[in-house]
Amino acid sequence: MPLDHNPTPAANFETVSIRSQAPRSQHREHSVPMFLTSSFVFDSAEHARALFAEEESGMVYSRYGNPSVDEFVHKLCALEGCEDGFATASGMAAMFGSMAALLSSGDHIVASRAVFGSTHAVLTRVLARWGIGHSYVDPADNNGWRAAITPATRMLFVETPSNPGLALVDLEYLGRLADEHGIILNVDNCFATPYLQTPARWGAHLVTHSATKFIDGQGRVLGGAILGSSELIGEVRSFARATGPALSPFNAWVLSKSLETLAVRMERHCENALALARHLEQHPQVNEVRYPFLDSHPQRELAGRQMRHGGGVVTFEVKGGLEGGKRFLDGLQMVTRSSNLGDTRSIATHPATTTHCKLSEQERQAVGITPGLVRVSVGLETIADIIADIDTALEQRQQR
Ligand SMILES: *Cc1c(COP(=O)(O)O)cnc(C)c1O
Repeated sequence: MPLDHNPTPAANFETVSIRSQAPRSQHREHSVPMFLTSSFVFDSAEHARALFAEEESGMVYSRYGNPSVDEFVHKLCALEGCEDGFATASGMAAMFGSMAALLSSGDHIVASRAVFGSTHAVLTRVLARWGIGHSYVDPADNNGWRAAITPATRMLFVETPSNPGLALVDLEYLGRLADEHGIILNVDNCFATPYLQTPARWGAHLVTHSATKFIDGQGRVLGGAILGSSELIGEVRSFARATGPALSPFNAWVLSKSLETLAVRMERHCENALALARHLEQHPQVNEVRYPFLDSHPQRELAGRQMRHGGGVVTFEVKGGLEGGKRFLDGLQMVTRSSNLGDTRSIATHPATTTHCKLSEQERQAVGITPGLVRVSVGLETIADIIADIDTALEQRQQR
């Protein structure tokens, strides 16, 4: 489906996110329509033959493609500066699909030690059974990435900023490293979104997303995407056509509408997050605050180079260790105790007892998850109310 836009990742981000759209139907609808149909009609036997032979492009069956899904994925490609993409039913379908479609038994992945929990499970429990090996490295250690590459390495997999430690990966360095070795740099851009960071610009060959987080941004639907060159996505598409991780047209429609407001939402998420991070840095009940755009962040300079703002997540360590962290969570009145992130609502998570509970104490230490560490996904409520709720919870923690 051709789009009436110029696909450069753009200084005119807001315009592209709103105005890049597929040609509308004979009804001349203004907003994106929703195509809830599992299959499509052939004009003739010859037309069907040409479609199946892939001599002609067109809609066949919604596992392969659907106009609502295409609208979402093409818009995301325009924002990321990628040639082509395939949208998936969840972020994990994208992470898994990007690996399973392109790797074979005997291949090796070098991954950041600080990957999302289910990505860790894919590497250690699924791909390992199929003879695809992996090594973990410290995301911030450029030399560590270089040293971990073996002759079998086919892919570097990173998240930046990392969850929940908010360490950054130097994308420009890794882009060059991947090219030197002729391997794929695959970047999970879920925390930053294309509004804050476009990995393809630094040489990433694949950009993967959980659209469930900031892209939807309103806690409604699951979704994901794999973006890259036509060549790589061609392989992903043929894998996905056969195996069936396709995004539903309804969720795609929701996500297309979400992209139209991504820039304004991210601006406010980041503004609120920076204000909260600065406030917490001064708080006597807090030991350490991590946020990429705080001057105290060890990679502040890199953050300014590859990100527009610091993102919507702030991580900090409350005093009092594991009990201190749990008491803080229990003292919250407004900020939600949940494990999700990237919502209009602010959400607090205690990684040591929830998202990262399956890791050993040592593994948690290695990725900087101390017992009192708390992650806050800063929402779009009035910042004074977010700060007041967090302050109250910190004070209660002190009194008990
Ligand atoms: C949530 C998340 C995922 C998985 O996405 P789902 O949509 O929940 O499947 C992958 N990577 C990161 C960084 C995430 O935060």
